[in-house]
Amino acid sequence: MAAEIINGKQIAAQIRSELKEQVERMAAQGRRPGLAVVLVGDNPASAVYVRQKKKACHEIGIYSEEHKLPGTITQGELLALIDRLNADPKIHGILVQLPLPDGLDEEEVINRINPKKDVDGFHPTNVGRLSIGLPAYVPCTPAGVLELVKRTGVAIAGKKVVVLGRSNIVGKPAAMLFLRENATVTVCHSRTVNVQQECAQADILVVAVGRPKLVKKYWVKPGAVVIDVGINRVDGKIVGDVDFEEVQEVASAITPVPGGVGPMTIAMLMKNTVSSAAEN
Ligand code: NAP
Repeated sequence: MAAEIINGKQIAAQIRSELKEQVERMAAQGRRPGLAVVLVGDNPASAVYVRQKKKACHEIGIYSEEHKLPGTITQGELLALIDRLNADPKIHGILVQLPLPDGLDEEEVINRINPKKDVDGFHPTNVGRLSIGLPAYVPCTPAGVLELVKRTGVAIAGKKVVVLGRSNIVGKPAAMLFLRENATVTVCHSRTVNVQQECAQADILVVAVGRPKLVKKYWVKPGAVVIDVGINRVDGKIVGDVDFEEVQEVASAITPVPGGVGPMTIAMLMKNTVSSAAEN
């Protein structure tokens, strides 16, 4: 039986519409959430992401401002901007679009953001809070992965979750999130021996490796839920890290690429911004 296709586009639209209602209520009480997006240099992919984020803010009713800075800006000038945004009561979320151009110290910039406005969840305070089980801003892509699984109605507690990939922005926080949901979590990476055998144990398989169609049918336990985070451009087409055509024959549910995890990332950024405004 073919797998259920998890419609991330539709779920993300549902989340945006829930947020819109919440923002309307908050705005009526004089508490409109605000997001500042900082874009340094002229990376075309970053410019696309920033446009999508602004559009989502506009749709939901979140106040947004874009700080577009030349790649020649100094570290000191960038830090001074972060300080101003930290102090600005209109702004509840600060997002610095990564990667920064060469010569700028990303770590120092992220560390400068007030953790209460760190809606990307990259500040070490939020990373630490997530790992010790305290409320924290969680990076948007893994937060989107968890939300997709939950909204698909899949029970997580006690399940075996395998996360393929251990990056700081996807794999590691995804593992922490599923652990927090009482799953038994295995994290695999490029040095894992027998990756396929590990993956084949998973009730829920989360794949974030950046290798087109790496995960094949025989890597997947029949009935598993497969979440594909990968975004790879192959011959002008976007494909995931999972061989969707063959894996959908064995999985019980699977995300497509595009239209799976991708749309969830911005929805979760919006959610983090609204939460920050509600809490601070
Ligand atoms: P990354 O930083 O390059 O990390 C890739 C991870 O995969 C590393 O931990 C690496 O292991 C592991 N890996 C690579 N090849 C492997 C293999 N053959 N077998 C087992 N493990 C392997 O990538 P990322 O930033 O996490 O992104 C992963 C994918 O998700 C990319 O396609 C990216 O475009 C996509 N992505 C999508 C979104 C979104 O949907 N909005 C957001 C972020 C990323 P080592 O640690 O040992 O090197």
